[in-house]
Amino acid sequence: MSSLFFSLAILLVQSGIFGAICMKIAEDKGRSGGLWFWVGFVFGLWAIIIVAILPKKVPVSKEMTNVNTLREYKNLLDSGIISREEFERKKSELMSHPKPTYSPPPANNSGSTWICPECGKKNPLTVRSCRECGREK
Ligand SMILES: [Zn+2]
Repeated sequence: MSSLFFSLAILLVQSGIFGAICMKIAEDKGRSGGLWFWVGFVFGLWAIIIVAILPKKVPVSKEMTNVNTLREYKNLLDSGIISREEFERKKSELMSHPKPTYSPPPANNSGSTWICPECGKKNPLTVRSCRECGREK
């Protein structure tokens, strides 16, 4: 009777260890640790083999990836590897989606055309006022 209890206890401890290993591997792969603990608990070594060959789970959303990336950049900032400017730039890059707000190109009147500062239309150099809105060059 006591030897049966003893082997049962060993079995439980063993299952617990398998479960814990399974949970650790699963969490490293971005999977549910709680679920894999029980899979490991029940199936032991087999569950460890299965969870070990499973591919890493792809992050669910792009937003989450951005947040994680930003967190890494924050770490880099905190450890002084990158400057605050670099961090802020990266932050606005990651956080502004779909695209950063459009800014019109600078009105450089080079080449054969000039760009109207009023409406942004390209006019030939030969015309003195904008063909679109009539603004003087
Ligand atoms: Zn114009």
